Amino acid sequence: MADADDVEPLIVNGWPVDPGLLEARAMTRCRLEACQSACCSGGVWIHTRQVEDILAHQDLILPHMPPDRRDPSQWFDGADELDTDWPAAGNATGTAVVDDPTHPAGTTCVFLNANRLCALQAASIAAGEHPWRFKPFYCALHPLGLDDGRLVLVEDSEIYQEGGCCSEPAVAPIPVFQLFDVETKLALGEAGYAQLEALSRG
Ligand code: SF4
Repeated sequence: MADADDVEPLIVNGWPVDPGLLEARAMTRCRLEACQSACCSGGVWIHTRQVEDILAHQDLILPHMPPDRRDPSQWFDGADELDTDWPAAGNATGTAVVDDPTHPAGTTCVFLNANRLCALQAASIAAGEHPWRFKPFYCALHPLGLDDGRLVLVEDSEIYQEGGCCSEPAVAPIPVFQLFDVETKLALGEAGYAQLEALSRG
């Protein structure tokens, strides 16, 4: 895929989108057994509105946290930065990163369980909500991401440099936006996804 900065973005449902998402590539989604949630090894930026929501619902989340990580005051790293890429731009902070000698990376996001699942997602499901109800936006969007506001497939992050990968080789090519369909719809909505489908058909 060409560097996203080298090509004009598509405008899809009002969003700048890297044309590379239309590219058909012989790959499939990663498997948890193989990747061990490498994408969770360094934590994530999270909007302060989501932090407030998580803390307001901590009783639902606490049962899904490892026993030694049940102090909500230790869940976020205290950083405070303006995220201009956020769909409704605003202040963001980081989830805390903790040592985890059982993980190949040696560290993980505080919310990653021993079974390599996200406690925030587990809590969402257990509460009968959408699986992403409490999940940070950028986690739900991954491996898609925002680069100066442009929707892209993230392939050059530290995670990849350290050997983590969110796809595996496959025989049959598939357009990137179709492979990561739910993530594309999170960013662009059903209408945006339909626009990409139409563009893909030519
Ligand atoms: S919040 Fe959940 S999905 Fe996001 S990095 Fe942490 S454990 Fe992973």
